[in-house]
Amino acid sequence: MARVYNFSAGPSMLPESVLKKAQADLFDYQGSGQSVMEMSHRSKVYEEIIFGAEKLFRKVYNVPDNYKILFLQGGASTQFSAIPLNLLGKSGKADYVVTGQFATKAYQEAQKYGEIRLVASSKDKTFSYIPELTRADFDQEADYAYICFNNTIFGTKFPYIPDTGDVPLVADISSCMISEPLDISKFGVVYGGAQKNVAPAGLTIAIIREDLLGKSAESTPVMLDWKTQAENDSMYNTPPCWSIYVCKLVLEWIEELGGLEVLAEINRKKAAKLYDFLDSSKLFSNPVRKQDRSIMNVTFVAATDELNAKFVKEAAESGFVNLKGHRSVGGMRASIYNAMPSEGVDKLVEFMKNFEEANS
Ligand SMILES: *Cc1c(COP(=O)(O)O)cnc(C)c1O
Repeated sequence: MARVYNFSAGPSMLPESVLKKAQADLFDYQGSGQSVMEMSHRSKVYEEIIFGAEKLFRKVYNVPDNYKILFLQGGASTQFSAIPLNLLGKSGKADYVVTGQFATKAYQEAQKYGEIRLVASSKDKTFSYIPELTRADFDQEADYAYICFNNTIFGTKFPYIPDTGDVPLVADISSCMISEPLDISKFGVVYGGAQKNVAPAGLTIAIIREDLLGKSAESTPVMLDWKTQAENDSMYNTPPCWSIYVCKLVLEWIEELGGLEVLAEINRKKAAKLYDFLDSSKLFSNPVRKQDRSIMNVTFVAATDELNAKFVKEAAESGFVNLKGHRSVGGMRASIYNAMPSEGVDKLVEFMKNFEEANS
């Protein structure tokens, strides 16, 4: 059976060579006589996998030495609670920027734990842009400031890293993790679900500046306490062994490509190709302010709801699947994460051109 071009927002495509490697390793991982799914996480053979993944992640993403990399479970959504529980230690105050649905959820969850202030929101224009913020916008007494760096549903991305002064900046990078280089030293914490760019579902990765560990509220559930996880090398309990293994394979694939700069260039070209077409199209358009466009999630609409539905249906029949926009916004969305080959975007654009001709 031929594989489809899968534009799902997550879980999403994995590189074909990674799938084949995982398949080849499946029955007997490197002569151990067992699959990675079956082995003890306390075994030597698994330690090499998890420590190897951590080391390679640090290298590929250029994570500074004073940051811990944690492999967690519960999805990005569990961190919506873990963040306030771990960080609201001093003033009990935090600043949130709301640029979409996941930022809204994080903002609402944090309100259970402290005095949470809305710094800015782009809801007034259906989250189609990123607000411009300066240091003066942030409360210098806040324990942290929070943003969602790439907004998966609305197809926007911060074109800059907000200057929050001395207030640690926390960012949800679920849908842009390891898609291009990021200056992690500008953040206190970055985190995300790995099922978009990095691994299968089940793994959440959090990168935390060491001085921010050990500030958790006393009532913090032990599993949500970053310090516990850091002290136990992400193995306080059973980690998501299989996802961490595939994460390592994905990182090896990035290394083989030539590293993150090379991958980022491919990603930017894929996005530019799609946006260029949308900007020249008479049928399709993209609603996002140009400078704030995501290179991972490209949203678009045709002229009518009927045409949107027709497009999604015909695209799926031609092997371009999961192009339907998020249920809250409608229209279409092409998620073109790391594993989407350039050819997939080229062919999608070709298909869109033909659809436009046939329907105008
Ligand atoms: C997918 C996503 C989430 C939710 O992730 P889960 O792992 O399903 O909890 C949160 N934030 C962003 C930006 C996402 O793209």
